[in-house]
Amino acid sequence: MLEPCPLFINGEWIAPKLPGTPVFNPSIGEVIAECPAGGISEVNAAVEAAAAAFPAWMETPPVERARVLFRFRTLLEENFEDLVRCNTREHGKTLAESRGDVKRGIEMVEFACGVPSLLMGEVLENVARGIDCEAIRQPLGVCAGITPFNFPAMVPLWMYPIALVCGNTFVLKPSEKVPLTAIKIVRLLEKAGLPKGVLNIVHGGREVVDGLLTHPKVRAISFVGSTPIAKHIYEVGTKHGKRVQCGGGAKNFVLLMPDADVQNSTRGVIEAAFGCAGERCMAGSTAVVLGEAEKTVLPTLIEATRKIRVGPTDREAQPDMGALITKQHREHVLELIETGVKEGAKIPADGRGVKVSEAPNGFFVGATILDHVRNTMTVAREEIFGPVLNVMRVKDLDAAIELANRSNYGNGASIFTRSGKAAREFKHRINCGMVGINIGVPASMAWFAFNGWNDSFFGDLHMQGREGVQFFTQQKVTTSRWFSYGEGDIWHKEK
Ligand code: NAD
Repeated sequence: MLEPCPLFINGEWIAPKLPGTPVFNPSIGEVIAECPAGGISEVNAAVEAAAAAFPAWMETPPVERARVLFRFRTLLEENFEDLVRCNTREHGKTLAESRGDVKRGIEMVEFACGVPSLLMGEVLENVARGIDCEAIRQPLGVCAGITPFNFPAMVPLWMYPIALVCGNTFVLKPSEKVPLTAIKIVRLLEKAGLPKGVLNIVHGGREVVDGLLTHPKVRAISFVGSTPIAKHIYEVGTKHGKRVQCGGGAKNFVLLMPDADVQNSTRGVIEAAFGCAGERCMAGSTAVVLGEAEKTVLPTLIEATRKIRVGPTDREAQPDMGALITKQHREHVLELIETGVKEGAKIPADGRGVKVSEAPNGFFVGATILDHVRNTMTVAREEIFGPVLNVMRVKDLDAAIELANRSNYGNGASIFTRSGKAAREFKHRINCGMVGINIGVPASMAWFAFNGWNDSFFGDLHMQGREGVQFFTQQKVTTSRWFSYGEGDIWHKEK
């Protein structure tokens, strides 16, 4: 029996009318649901519902809006394991990784609960004699969010908790590959008392997204996904007068200095490269090995990679690493590995032929290292988004920074070292928005901007933190002067 995948419009859960695309359990390669291909009529209905709900939601005091999120947070905690299992079932990541995914999402809700203090404005008295100036923040109206497959719980929660607490209404279009966790989470928000129409869900692909991008009543678009689609969303959305923030793909560098602590840096790189089977925009997908680190850290790293156990994640016994999202993506990753080898890379850890006897139809690729990768190779330029670590060797820190700074992307970069001076130099000169020092995945927490640069982000204001609040609000500046006390005032005499 397939799991239902309804739309949510104006507080009603609606069975889809159109057929859709399969949602798999990647661990076993079986279809578990069908995500409907929505159409323009559903987009219009969802946007109209959000537009109708906006005036009353905007007038709801921020503290009351936040209270809905407080109840939502409690429900997320109470249903934590259920969400984790749903997340793992449709995505394929391990239960521990799904716990991280849901936990990060809950942190976004916790941040949003405190947003009323960030909505406070500014006042300057006497900008001229007897004239005061104040700036306040108001919501935009209907906002929309389009999300990727790789964090089914967390990424939608980057968007709508902040949008809603700021007083906006919202239309969410989750990834058609993982719609079930997003639906489960919104059911909890409904239970927390969110009024009808304040949040709506539509499903589908390009037609639905373009419908949202061009709808005159949508004021802002929040997108996370691959770089080519992010660029498209940014261009079309801004052309239609919308405020747009788009997180894109990435290629993140991890520098291994000769003085790096071998055990800690190995653990850090393994987690960064192979966590979530490399399907992370913050995956540390390139290890840059400096000088003697090729004799200290690299052999340990190769050995540890060969030991990574791959397997199905939808049962109690957990492997180290799960499956990739679809059969097509698995094939794409395998093709890229082949290309890397053809273009001259060595392959000291080879995950191509991995066999998983307990789940022979799962979409598995084993943990792979491509060594001696050069900048000109396809695997050095393209985001692989799978369990593949490129290794590049350089002589010193200058060369390593120069290499990393040549990338078009700019999400994250890390350094493993015992030298404060080297770490400081790296932090200062590296051309990306999130930096790790002895941290493999420097993904910023809810209170900070999720801070991609270059082709990893299009827009001005990032998701999360204060920038998230600025994105979902517009400022109003009032300059005021009062000439008299007015007739009703019995306490003062006109001067
Ligand atoms: P994707 O770009 O294929 O899809 C993302 C969303 O866009 C989905 O909802 C999808 O339905 C929609 N979409 C797909 N094709 C479209 C089209 N032609 N027109 C309009 N909409 C379209 O991305 P994905 O494969 O789901 O996710 C993986 C990508 O997301 C990776 O590149 C990863 O690096 C990136 N990502 C980035 C961040 C970040 O913060 N920068 C975070 C997570 C994932």
